[in-house]
Amino acid sequence: MTGKPLNPRGTKYDKWTFPVFEMGVVGRARYEYTTGQALGRFLAGLKEGKILGTVCDKCGRVFVPPRMYCSYCFREVDRWIEVKDEGVVVTAVMSYIAADRSRLKEPVAVGVVKLDVPGYKFDDHFFPGLMHYLCGFSEDDVKSMRAFGARVKARWKPPEKRTGSITDIECFEAVRP
Ligand SMILES: [Zn+2]
Repeated sequence: MTGKPLNPRGTKYDKWTFPVFEMGVVGRARYEYTTGQALGRFLAGLKEGKILGTVCDKCGRVFVPPRMYCSYCFREVDRWIEVKDEGVVVTAVMSYIAADRSRLKEPVAVGVVKLDVPGYKFDDHFFPGLMHYLCGFSEDDVKSMRAFGARVKARWKPPEKRTGSITDIECFEAVRP
């Protein structure tokens, strides 16, 4: 019983130490974000230094990253919007997990940033927030919650180094008054 892929992922088991049930695969279950098109445009926007989202005018929600459908109203969103690359840290944690899921020796600050949306006040848009690295925040800033509510701005890679990825933004750093 070796060498035979058991499931669509191709996982191989060399020996059984647990009961195994083999089930026929019905179709191919794929998990795909419903927003392939939207995400593509979002990533292209990042390359140009723009953060794009979509708006559902029925409930007022702004989606960043954008979605094509409002999952609250079950309808297509109405329009695109360019949001600011600046906002407020709504929550933050220290993370020992790198982007490739390896464990870091020193933790990094990660937070959810609620970005400013032109034409909206802070509280009148339902904005889920963009998660990203926070630079310049110490472990103590996070643990004492001083980082919460801080105004931050995206630190962009230089245009020639951008690839159309969320990492075109290196991190969000505190806005110094
Ligand atoms: Zn909606």
